[in-house]
Amino acid sequence: MRIVRFLAFGKTSYGVFHGGKIRRLRRDPFTQFTTFGRISFIDSVSYSLDSVELLPPCSPSKIVCLGLNYRSHVREMESATPSTPLIFLKPSTAVIGPNDAIILPPGCKRIDYEGELAVVVGKKAKNVPKGEAAKYILGYTCFNDVSDREAQVTDGQWTRAKGYDTFAPLGPWIETDISPGGLKLETYVNGELRQSASTSELLFSVPELLSFISHVMTLLPGDVIATGTPEGVGPLKPGDIVEVKIEKIGTLKNPVVASEELGK
Ligand code: MG
Repeated sequence: MRIVRFLAFGKTSYGVFHGGKIRRLRRDPFTQFTTFGRISFIDSVSYSLDSVELLPPCSPSKIVCLGLNYRSHVREMESATPSTPLIFLKPSTAVIGPNDAIILPPGCKRIDYEGELAVVVGKKAKNVPKGEAAKYILGYTCFNDVSDREAQVTDGQWTRAKGYDTFAPLGPWIETDISPGGLKLETYVNGELRQSASTSELLFSVPELLSFISHVMTLLPGDVIATGTPEGVGPLKPGDIVEVKIEKIGTLKNPVVASEELGK
């Protein structure tokens, strides 16, 4: 099942995308998942995909990201392999949806794309054993961990480098019926392949990550875990189109603009 969040006639709703149509959900998917462990109660109102604006598929209270969670990326960053998951946060205000513009802040010299598999938490998770992690996951979507590489190095702490507005593209929808292992993940810039890996190459698996993070902080419905990027990260410039494509999920596509172009 593909869960979308969308704007139609001035109203924001959740829906299920199937057969080219969006059918609105009567209740939000997190309430349903928490209560029933599944999604149902689809109402009869339906929309065509091109008649609505797709929004980020959830509004997380926080995005918990993984640093250095693919061996190939550890190598390219010339870093040591972490012995425990290396986590950091991106603010909820950085989230944008499919087709929204990534805005390059003024004066930044190198802003990179990082294509990643994102986990969407379905219900409140605290101290979850690894073997029970799947029960807390609503589904999976695509994520771009946009990063100011220069600030990441100069600051040491990554909040600025990772936290600018628009630096967390998320979407296009939440796929609920897949397993997170062995999915092909690709990133394209202007149609050129830049990253290609399998999610089976994750150093720490999705159940390990959810369990580990839930022993640090309570995960809330709609929170996102970004599982890290493989090798092939690289810079974005104004006018670029960046796409994160994950097998069995879909493609998250965003244009890149300079803040100056927006008159800011
Ligand atoms: Mg990353």
